[in-house]
Amino acid sequence: MRFISTRGQTPALGFSDAVATGLAPDGGLFLPETLPDFSGDLARFEKLGYAELCFEFLRVFATDIPPATLRGLVDASYTRFADPAIAPLKPLAKNLYVLELFHGPTLAFKDFALQLLGNLYEHQCAVRRQTINVLGATSGDTGAAAIHGLLGKPGTAIFILYPDGRVSPLQERQMACTGATNVFALAVDGTFDDAQNALKEILGDQAFRTRHRLSAVNSINLARVLAQCVYYFYAWLRLPAAERGNVEFVVPTGNFGNVLAGWMLQKMGVPIRSFRVATNQNDILYRMFTTGEYRMGAVLPSLAPSMDIQVASNFERFIYFAVGRDPAKVREVMQTFKATGGYTFANFNRDTFTASRCTDAEIPGIIARVHREHGYIADPHTACGFQKLAAGRVNVVLATASPAKFPDTIRTAIGIEPTHPSLEALKSRPVVKHRLRAEAAAIREFVERRAV
Ligand SMILES: *Cc1c(COP(=O)(O)O)cnc(C)c1O
Repeated sequence: MRFISTRGQTPALGFSDAVATGLAPDGGLFLPETLPDFSGDLARFEKLGYAELCFEFLRVFATDIPPATLRGLVDASYTRFADPAIAPLKPLAKNLYVLELFHGPTLAFKDFALQLLGNLYEHQCAVRRQTINVLGATSGDTGAAAIHGLLGKPGTAIFILYPDGRVSPLQERQMACTGATNVFALAVDGTFDDAQNALKEILGDQAFRTRHRLSAVNSINLARVLAQCVYYFYAWLRLPAAERGNVEFVVPTGNFGNVLAGWMLQKMGVPIRSFRVATNQNDILYRMFTTGEYRMGAVLPSLAPSMDIQVASNFERFIYFAVGRDPAKVREVMQTFKATGGYTFANFNRDTFTASRCTDAEIPGIIARVHREHGYIADPHTACGFQKLAAGRVNVVLATASPAKFPDTIRTAIGIEPTHPSLEALKSRPVVKHRLRAEAAAIREFVERRAV
């Protein structure tokens, strides 16, 4: 299968090249040239375990990787999940389930994609007999998940920038206590935006980029979206047949990567009824799906920090379909958005997407209510999903992080401090971080010395 850019000015690429490229050179995002149709495979897929389903799904896209190799990469990606179901679907009440996506190594849903991406990178290094240096800037979960996807992998090194003192102590430990020699946790003095800007400058230096075979870790990689389709498929197949046609997936949303994957699966013939875009107080997507106006706001730090975004980097894939798959129109929308900070969509399918917004003032109360009513502890991101449930639908709330990652908020809400053995183990390990100025020159020099 080949993959095209939403902006239509990049030649179509095969799977491995599209994954290695990340952002298309024309500034667009990669999408399958045509979407496959799985509606004839539903009965056959019902009996498959998680990794088997993932393989059957991905093989349709990753046609340039031999099936036996792909199978090995997929299997290796889900061995470090602590729950045998990988993505357990737990009933809480009539018409209410929670889909737990936090049993991977860093206890957040990003492991589903980044474990796989790490293995794809390793495979590519082996095939091309080249090393690769991965760079990213993080305000939390992505950096930890990316690091754990590449931990100790030969031929790779990973450099993650984060604002010193501004990520949670547990998140920092997940990045800086791995003990792996190919991992560099770079604590920069500045804000997340400073780190991000320095990173952009380095990645914009084409000569430096080529010399060190740099690759950026970000939320728009094609492989991430495809890996995330699988847990929607898996959950849908676990539901009683009578409920499957009436499902609303409730998705705690930031960059629109997670919910986009579910929506694309629906477009591929899996009859999911609807999706709820559940935002925190950073509500650009809530406003979009209630009014049609997509307009940039300022970031307000929140109790659900992994959803603190200003523009949703994956939204362009939705726009591509919303404007009738017309790349010229996508370019026009993105141009207008860039120039004016907003764009208004005249018509989109309001039946497929509903939206809700949850402020910080509401989050502890929701955690307390869910605990009281269902005996379930939701992390602050998942709590945004529980804010409102659709009457008359089967609600499947995606639990995107373990509550143990956010002990302070949970203690405030219900007086219990959740723990997790993997986080406890980190507390006795040394923190190895490299303090750097948030300047491209300092970071570039560091990368130069440690690159593989
Ligand atoms: C990244 C993240 C989100 C937001 O996911 P998007 O794909 O950016 O919409 C939600 N919850 C948690 C815990 C996350 O780490």
